[in-house]
Amino acid sequence: MTSLTALSIASELFPLIKTGGLADVAGALPTALRTHDVAVTSLLPGYPAVLGGIEDPREVHGFHELFGGTARLLAARCGELDLLVLDAPHLYVRPGNPYVGPDGRDWPDNGLRFAALAQVGALIGQGLLSDYAPDVLHAHDWQTGLLPAYLKYSGRPGPKTVFTIHNLAFQGRFPYELLAKLGLPERAFSLDGVEYYGGIGYLKAGLQLADRITTVSPTYAAEIQGSEAGMGLDGLLRLRSDRLSGILNGIDTDVWNPANDALIAATYDVESVAARARNKKALQARFGLKPEPGALLYGVISRLSWQKGLDLLLEALPQLIGGGAQLALLGAGDSELERAYGAAARKYPGQIGAVIGYDEALAHQIQAGADALLVPSRFEPCGLTQLCALRYGAVPVVARVGGLADTVVDANEMATATGVATGVQFAPVTTDALIKAFGRTRALFADVVAWRNLQINGMTTDVSWKNPAQHYAKLYRSLVAKR
Ligand code: ADP
Repeated sequence: MTSLTALSIASELFPLIKTGGLADVAGALPTALRTHDVAVTSLLPGYPAVLGGIEDPREVHGFHELFGGTARLLAARCGELDLLVLDAPHLYVRPGNPYVGPDGRDWPDNGLRFAALAQVGALIGQGLLSDYAPDVLHAHDWQTGLLPAYLKYSGRPGPKTVFTIHNLAFQGRFPYELLAKLGLPERAFSLDGVEYYGGIGYLKAGLQLADRITTVSPTYAAEIQGSEAGMGLDGLLRLRSDRLSGILNGIDTDVWNPANDALIAATYDVESVAARARNKKALQARFGLKPEPGALLYGVISRLSWQKGLDLLLEALPQLIGGGAQLALLGAGDSELERAYGAAARKYPGQIGAVIGYDEALAHQIQAGADALLVPSRFEPCGLTQLCALRYGAVPVVARVGGLADTVVDANEMATATGVATGVQFAPVTTDALIKAFGRTRALFADVVAWRNLQINGMTTDVSWKNPAQHYAKLYRSLVAKR
């Protein structure tokens, strides 16, 4: 096996900066690829949390001017990860999260902020900033979509590119007028370039110009070629379907390991699943729920958004608690949903608990203490919480879409008879179907043996990065062989 170098370019990376699953992938895939003799370096923006969290930074390149200010490229480390950090204070040193300010609004110059990341990624790829020149460039999501455009329109040779869609809903659309500031030629504004419905589409550019496109599950790869999930890009994806594949995400099984998780009340493994009862008790106490060991306790860990179907769950809450179940919800996002779940917790004390906010430790405690984890998403490229749930013995109850369909085996008659079921799927994604899923889940939960089998099947499912990393390594090698 020949060794290979790859530069991964993403706007988030766990544990330094995270708003969603993208950060988990960007943070875990490099380590998993090492086993396959692929040495990954990760390029990310120098947000305050990144600059404050990296080790051994040293400057490898200085920019006199990068989109309106001076900047530096720093080589650094974070644990085992090799990083390149784009330290451009005028673009990235701001309060709020990577995309929005404290007022919850997108930064007006997001187009420039992420064009800078993409352009620098392309320059590194072409070996123009230091003596490092990776064999493959792997760009993630709209923030890096212009990277293959910068390569193409520079006229200089560069490495092959892989572009991964983590969520087609976030497309990075900007007005035509931005083009002049991006350092791309006028001819880039074309159907086979960055043009998208009269403006500039960053995600579209990535899909149009990358050598390979991946997304994070096979089912989502198929869904986005249809008009419903394609969100305006299905035509392009169908045209490029020979370049498109789905590779499931994994999770970091060291971070998510119930056998030695320091964040939970009682550790356990597949031999000692009963010890979860202590975590359930602690979770009920944390959420102000009645300390009933026999109540079916559902957990939710989610961004609160339309995508995640949590408005459907709101409508179904009376049926959920009517069946004697409880709910512990952790989430943040849409203010309307935040308010609604806060109100539901006040209306049904002891049965529904909600923590509004982002809390990594509490996410672990929910996985370890909830009987079932609910994921009623309208669409879900891969989904990570159901993978963590499998590993923690929280039975996933999920909508049959995208990666949820690919990773949870529904407890239907066939799967139950052959002993492979790991959870409950429901379709279509409606309140009625969700309520029916509550009924099925309640029946399974009442059967102690059936429930324990679901838990054990889940806990012994391989949700690590082992298989996915093998697919990415193979993809990278196929591209390098073609150079
Ligand atoms: P998405 O990327 O669409 O938000 P994923 O399921 O792919 O959804 O990834 C979400 C990640 O963020 C998971 O690791 C999940 O545990 C975590 N997460 C989501 N919301 C919260 C929260 N409020 N507190 C802590 N972790 C959260």
